[in-house]
Amino acid sequence: MPPLEPSTPVQYVKGIGPRLAEALADKGIRSVDDLLHYLPFRYEDRLNPRGIAELRPGEMATVIAEVRNSGLFRTRRMPIFQMTAGQGRQTLQCLWFHGAYLQDKFQPGQLVALYGKVELDRKGRMQIIQPQFEMLGDPNGNDSSEEGAKDGIPQVAATSLEVGRIVPIYESAMQGRLTSRWFRRIIRGALENLTPDLPDPIPEAVRRRIGLIAPRDALWKVHWPDAGESLTDLQAARTPAHIRLIFEELFLVELGLEMKRKRQKAETGIAFGLEDRVREAIKKILPFHPTSAQKRVLGEIAADMGKPSPMRRLLQGDVGSGKTIVALQAAIIAIENGYQVALMAPTEILATQHYLSARRILESAGYRIVPLTGSMDDSLKRDVRRHIARGNVQLVIGTHALIEEKVEFDRLGLVIVDEQHRFGVMQRLKLMKKSADRGHPETAERGSATPEPDVLVMTATPIPRTLALTLYGDLDVSILDELPPGRTPILTRRVPDGRADEVWAFLRKQVTAGHQAYVVYPVIEENEETELKAAMKMHKELSKRVFPELCVGLLHGRLDAEEKDAAMRRFERGEINILVSTTVIEVGVDVPNATVMVVEHAERFGLAQLHQLRGRIGRGAAKSYCILMTGGKVSEEGERRLDAMVRTNDGFEIAELDLELRGPGEFFGTRQAGLPSFRVANLIRDRQLLEAAKREAQAVLAAPNGDISQEELTRALHCMRQRWQSTYGLVEVG
Ligand code: ADP
Ligand code: MG
Repeated sequence: MPPLEPSTPVQYVKGIGPRLAEALADKGIRSVDDLLHYLPFRYEDRLNPRGIAELRPGEMATVIAEVRNSGLFRTRRMPIFQMTAGQGRQTLQCLWFHGAYLQDKFQPGQLVALYGKVELDRKGRMQIIQPQFEMLGDPNGNDSSEEGAKDGIPQVAATSLEVGRIVPIYESAMQGRLTSRWFRRIIRGALENLTPDLPDPIPEAVRRRIGLIAPRDALWKVHWPDAGESLTDLQAARTPAHIRLIFEELFLVELGLEMKRKRQKAETGIAFGLEDRVREAIKKILPFHPTSAQKRVLGEIAADMGKPSPMRRLLQGDVGSGKTIVALQAAIIAIENGYQVALMAPTEILATQHYLSARRILESAGYRIVPLTGSMDDSLKRDVRRHIARGNVQLVIGTHALIEEKVEFDRLGLVIVDEQHRFGVMQRLKLMKKSADRGHPETAERGSATPEPDVLVMTATPIPRTLALTLYGDLDVSILDELPPGRTPILTRRVPDGRADEVWAFLRKQVTAGHQAYVVYPVIEENEETELKAAMKMHKELSKRVFPELCVGLLHGRLDAEEKDAAMRRFERGEINILVSTTVIEVGVDVPNATVMVVEHAERFGLAQLHQLRGRIGRGAAKSYCILMTGGKVSEEGERRLDAMVRTNDGFEIAELDLELRGPGEFFGTRQAGLPSFRVANLIRDRQLLEAAKREAQAVLAAPNGDISQEELTRALHCMRQRWQSTYGLVEVG
């Protein structure tokens, strides 16, 4: 057999074949390279498996023993599966709650490796509850365990891969049919047949600077660590082998992003003029003194807009930091240059609110603004679209209707996307493409390429700068890190359900003092109907029983647009004292007179979401209060979320914790963010490596002739393209 190349399809690896290759594809394993980057999620020290007699309660231990007997017994609360394993006269009890699925698993006499926390049971015997386990072939090397042969899954010759060393543990696949043990042997075989000359995408100089071991070496050691390797480093993915693989992955990602950025800079955009007349116009609309952060950020945006390449900028700023006015100022730059601007918001409520405030701020200066949302009636939409196409309108504010329906612009110059975390990147891309559909007539006539409009994306879910640069790698990043003056910090408290009466009394006091309040209910999609009913029921309860003398409004996603609008308007005008709402008010809603937010079942909300909700208050000079009510038992993670909310108002701090609690996949919704999940890297754990990778990628591209040969550069770029194509799919790079 010829040696395996990294690009060889995985089906040609010994023991796989077409059918299993298909199952592996579901795990993202298509090539030999993918297979070799399917890393153990844990390692077990079976160098020195423990004797049962020497176990100590409280320790984590691996024990290799023989199955003696097993069985399911039922307690009042749940079925428990029990298995006794033995070494000579010593025995160890193993218990699995709800373990009925294990019934046919253990045959007396089989060898099994068990891993878990050792405890004493009530009778003082050693036991492990819910141990991880693995059936071992019999000690003579005849593999008779069930996993090898079951369901026609091919058998791989048993070796001593299971004991007497540090053993890699893999996540199983195919509903557990491809076991950790199966992976161990398949990957071992692939390593043994791997081509001896594995190309290294990382230039020598970089390798030296970071101190990286060779790729082949890394692959072997990450799967089969040397006996002396630190178990702690292995579990933390901090061995030289791990670091090499992680750095390599991040380096190639960063290289791709840098290329993309370079290419973008080479595209034809619009160089907006920034002469005094334009500067005057920007200043004229300001209803207040901008904060110095606002000035700085506007400066960054204006500088981008003045350049002939298209702007791709992400503006991060905590809730209430004043992003809207900065966006409107950017809009004026475009408009004063004779271009149109599209501003998109993720919800109708927010779009409408932006529309109204933009009109307040801009219309007196003579700018023409229209709304465009999905719920407007068709003839009105047609009208609006006609005006946009003819260039009668300068600023269009809407929801995705802007991208999803056929909107043609006459001269689109700037696209602003608010609360980007609510939009998928795909939508963002679509909007950018759309803007390119219709060219700028003058340049079109001149025969040059259609200029790309500038794009400004805003988000109130801030993330650390390097992460932002990587995740939205094609964007430059600006940060609004200052709140407008005159805000009193919000006081946040937790209150159990049982003390609702005190909360309502407090609400009444605030309303009597002339303020307004929100009461928010979670609506969780799977359970929308019941949750909605809860909000409606509560509305009734509050309006009829608790606050009969006050005006209590109701707002939720199922109302039609006009009803939502009406409720918002009445709340803004102060006619509604207390607004009972679902999370539709999460983003953007701005009513400075609202000083209290009560969140019911706060434990059910995500951290970022709670912070966004809280951002609806504390917008005026009066002191604001956020009351997080909790009912029933709160999970440990829930506790940490609530604690964080009580402890800090800082959106950046909250975002970091949220990222930590949820993990990057869920936090970013990687799919939607346009980046795939990484094979070996973890954006939080490996943040420092990410920074180094970014730095090195930039250095390699900036000075290709320094200490890096042309050949090395070519190889790095080649590997990068391959990686991007196979792993990051649709994203194409230079
Ligand atoms: P966000 O960044 O959350 O979108 P907004 O743009 O909605 O924040 O601004 C929050 C509130 O702060 C608005 O009422 C806005 O008018 C006000 N605001 C923004 N900038 C300033 C400023 N420099 N001085 C005073 N108030 C400001
Ligand atoms: Mg906003």
